[in-house]
Amino acid sequence: MPDYPDQLTTQELQTLDGAHHIHPFTDSAGIKAHGARIISRAEGVYLWDSDGNKLLDGMAGLWCVNLGYGRKELVDAAAQQMLQLPYYNTFFQTTHPPAIMLAKRLGELAPGDLNRVFFSGSGSEANDTNLRMVRHYWSCLGKPEKHVVISRKNAYHGSTVAAASLGGMAFMHAQGGLPIPGITHIEQPYWYGEGGDLSAAEFGLARARLLEDEIDRIGDDKVAAFIAEPVQGAGGVVIPPATYWPEIQRICDEHEILLIVDEVITGYGRTANWFASQTFNICPDIMTTAKGLSSGYLPIGASLVCDKVADVLEEKGGEFAHGYTYSGHPVACAVALESLHILEKEKIIENLQKDIAPYLAEKWQTLADHPLIGEARICGMMAAIELTPDKVARAPFAGERGQAGLICRDICFANGLVMRSVGDTMVISPPLVITKPQIDELIELAFKSLDMTEQKLAQDGLLKSTV
Ligand SMILES: *Cc1c(COP(=O)(O)O)cnc(C)c1O
Repeated sequence: MPDYPDQLTTQELQTLDGAHHIHPFTDSAGIKAHGARIISRAEGVYLWDSDGNKLLDGMAGLWCVNLGYGRKELVDAAAQQMLQLPYYNTFFQTTHPPAIMLAKRLGELAPGDLNRVFFSGSGSEANDTNLRMVRHYWSCLGKPEKHVVISRKNAYHGSTVAAASLGGMAFMHAQGGLPIPGITHIEQPYWYGEGGDLSAAEFGLARARLLEDEIDRIGDDKVAAFIAEPVQGAGGVVIPPATYWPEIQRICDEHEILLIVDEVITGYGRTANWFASQTFNICPDIMTTAKGLSSGYLPIGASLVCDKVADVLEEKGGEFAHGYTYSGHPVACAVALESLHILEKEKIIENLQKDIAPYLAEKWQTLADHPLIGEARICGMMAAIELTPDKVARAPFAGERGQAGLICRDICFANGLVMRSVGDTMVISPPLVITKPQIDELIELAFKSLDMTEQKLAQDGLLKSTV
C-alpha cells in the first residue's frame, strides 16, 4: 500500500493540499492561507484530526454517515463483493445480483408504489436523471411541451449542471450561467426568516399556494414537475409549517404535475421514519435518494420511481438514452444492502422513534434559552438554531450575513464539536446511532460554544441587530 499520512506532518500535508487539491465549496485562497483541517480517522460518532484532536461529528460527515464510522459489516460486505465481482455494468440488458437485490429491497421499503429504481453515483446525478425522466415521461404521453420543472429558492439538489439549476442557491447560479432554461423557482417555506406577521400555519399555506400561482402563470400544459426537499437541509434545516405539504400535494394532484421529493438527506431514517414522505404524509411520484443509502461508505444514488411513471416509460419510452458507468455499481449496492440490513436488524429507526429522537428534541430545545438563540427547531435527527443579536425581536445581525455563523462554527470546532453554519443558522445532523450520553455531550459543547461565540461577537462589536 502507498504510505502517506503517518510520515507527513500536518503542515506538510496542508502545503501539498494547497498546492494540488481544488476543494468543493471552498475558497482556494483562504484554504491556502490557513491550511485545511485534516481528518485522519474516525470511530462511532467521533473524528480525529491529524493533530490527534477528537471531535464529535454532529453532521454525520455531510449528512450521510448514518450508522457512524468503523462499521466492520460494511467493510466486509464491500471486500466480499470486490472479490466476487468488483465491477460490471447494468447497460445493454445486463445486470448482477447486488443491483437486483437492492432494487427489490428499495421497492419494498419505499412508501406507496415507488417500486422501480434507477441507480446513479450520487444525489446530483439522481436529480439529473429525474429531470430527463419527467420530461421524457410527458413526451411519451404526447406532451413534450410539458417540460418546465418548478423548484424553490434556497433549495439544494446537487452540484451538476441540472441539479444546481434545480437548486435555488443564488450564489451557485452566479457561477457558470445557471439555471439552465425550463426551470423556475418559487419562495421557500422559511417561517423564522420570512414569515413576517403571519402565523406559521398561515405562512405555510401562503407559500404552498405560490406553487399554484406559478403553475397558473406558466400553464398546466407546460409544467412537468415540482421538486422539493421535505425539509431543506443545506438551506438551513428549514422545516415547513404543518400546513405546507398537504397543500402542495393537493396542488400537484389537481394540476397533474409530477411531484419529485428529494430525500437525499431525509431518506433512510433521518426524520425518525424510513422516509420523510411518511413523516409529512407526502405521496411522491419520484423520490431522490443517496447519502444515507450506503451510510456514506461508498457513493451511490437511487431515483425511486412510481408505477404510473415507470409503466409509461416501459410501454412507450423505448430505450431510455441515459445511464452512468457506475449505475448500480455492485460494491456500492452490496454496501447499501448491508447498511439497510443493519438499520433493520438493530431496530435503529424504532429506537429513534421511541427513545433517541424525543431525547434529542428535548435537549435541543434547551438551546432556545441561550441569549444568542432566536429559535431552536428539530425534525427527527436534523436540527437548527438561529443566532440572533436580539432574542426578543429575532432580528438578523447588522453586519454581513453569515459572519456570526462562521465564528460560531470555528469555535465549535475548537471545542471538539462539528456543527455546520448556514448563514447565521447552525445545523446538526448527527449519526443515527448517537447515544444519550453523546447527545448530552453535544448539547454541552453547543452551550459552551454559544457562550464563547457571544463573548467574541461582543468583543468584536458584532452583537448589533438591524432593528
Ligand atoms: C447532498 C444533496 C444532494 C446532492 O447529492 P450528491 O451526492 O452530493 O451529489 C441532492 N439533494 C439534496 C437534498 C442533498 O442534500
